[in-house]
Amino acid sequence: MKPLKLNKHYTRIAKKLKLKAKPRLLLGDEASSYIKKHKKDEKPQNGGYLFWTNTVAIINKKRIGTLAHEMRHAYQYEHRMRKGYEFSRDTKAINNRCDEIIYLASRKERDANWYALRYLIFNTLAYKQIIEYIYKVLEGYICLLLAPFIKKIKY
Ligand SMILES: [Zn+2]
Repeated sequence: MKPLKLNKHYTRIAKKLKLKAKPRLLLGDEASSYIKKHKKDEKPQNGGYLFWTNTVAIINKKRIGTLAHEMRHAYQYEHRMRKGYEFSRDTKAINNRCDEIIYLASRKERDANWYALRYLIFNTLAYKQIIEYIYKVLEGYICLLLAPFIKKIKY
């Protein structure tokens, strides 16, 4: 099985998610400068989704998992009313491990990582990324367990 190019995965994911408004896809350097322009914190990012421009930016073209993750955010945005996902332009910057735990515990992130894992398993042989997303899914649940305690510590 020859690995598919990222833009083939893009088309496939958009179809599977039945996206009405296909997001604009930026890759490589273009994606990198787009993310830099819009980011609020120093958290390293492989990709991003901006709902107000409906843009998915993926820096490394080998990162199918990141593509599936960010495309899932586009899906969440399309179904935000029905599924109760909140999107806001003034999201909090992530400056420390506590912020990161709260962020990783969010339903949006857990759903996007779970989708990326399923997509990788059923559509690729990208074992390293599959393992990485198994870890991300587990991390999401662990953060979900930790989040209530962090809120208590902060106040
Ligand atoms: Zn995300």
